[in-house]
Amino acid sequence: MSVRVVARIRPLLEKEHDKDVIVRADSVEDGKPFTMVKIPSPKNEAEEFSFAFNSVYDQSTTQEQLFTAEVASHIKALFQGLDVTLFAYGVTGTGKTHTMRGGLKLAERGVIPRLLSNVFRRGKKIAKDTNGETTVDVALSYYEIYNDKVFDLLEPPEKRTPSGLPLREKDGKTVVVGLSERACEDLKDFERLYIESNMNRVTAATKLNAHSSRSHAILRVKVTQTTGDMVRESTASAIDLAGSEDNRRTENGKERLVESAAINKSLFVLSQCIDAISRGDKRIPYRESKMTRILSLGQNNGITIMILNLAPLRSYHLDTLSSLNVSSRAKRI
Ligand code: ADP
Ligand code: MG
Repeated sequence: MSVRVVARIRPLLEKEHDKDVIVRADSVEDGKPFTMVKIPSPKNEAEEFSFAFNSVYDQSTTQEQLFTAEVASHIKALFQGLDVTLFAYGVTGTGKTHTMRGGLKLAERGVIPRLLSNVFRRGKKIAKDTNGETTVDVALSYYEIYNDKVFDLLEPPEKRTPSGLPLREKDGKTVVVGLSERACEDLKDFERLYIESNMNRVTAATKLNAHSSRSHAILRVKVTQTTGDMVRESTASAIDLAGSEDNRRTENGKERLVESAAINKSLFVLSQCIDAISRGDKRIPYRESKMTRILSLGQNNGITIMILNLAPLRSYHLDTLSSLNVSSRAKRI
């Protein structure tokens, strides 16, 4: 089991100003790659906090660079049977969806379409290299967890039941009962499905008068390699987490409080699991939230990468500090 925690600082957007930048990437020594995030203390601007990560990507990092550095090398492991789990964690507006999904232009594509494109390419190569003796099948599931309830995103929102889909234990694994799965042949196939199901997500949120940033969206890519009667199955999961901001500070409606508690609990359990895995603990508290339970976080021999997305601006100061506190490997130095 291996885990990496990396940070990505997004660039300034239109109408955002240099003078409001308070977050920066730094290295332990000049010329070394960035591994630290620095941010002033909210109480005393002269005092600076440092947080350490496995890697830190600054505002100049492209989608391609991030994918190549953090994801591409794990695709081989995926085909060797290991599960790969990628999380984007951070406050709303810091670039989680940009990192995971990205834009429509080729260069702006995020981790998810790049991952799929690589998986299809590798699958076709394996089939070709074995003269068709090994077949590679790719199947997708896509669901969201909202208020600790699981909803299928491959199904239209009208089909949802208020309680969501139940979980069940099967052969020591947690499965979502009734979750659909679609076979996918190529990137075009995938994109059609992905666009459609992201629309389901937005429609469902609008019906509830909520925002999709308050739910966790989980894409599972199941890769099945079959050679005669030998079957090898592994899963890549890509998760665009709910915003980690403390909604209580900005909103005080009752509904928001319930959401906030459910979101914060699962994000808290997630960070505890990541901590425990990186320390090499035997006991990982993955059963304590639905999200970590479904992913069996720390229970398999897989690779987990958490990307902490950060906005460089002062307006995010307190939320940025709290997300740094939760996710940094070495905490405050
Ligand atoms: P989140 O999903 O965390 O709420 P988004 O991914 O929606 O945040 O990003 C917020 C805004 O910042 C969007 O307009 C997005 O296009 C932009 N953005 C985020 N990261 C980058 C980046 N690395 N390069 C360019 N624009 C970015
Ligand atoms: Mg988002």
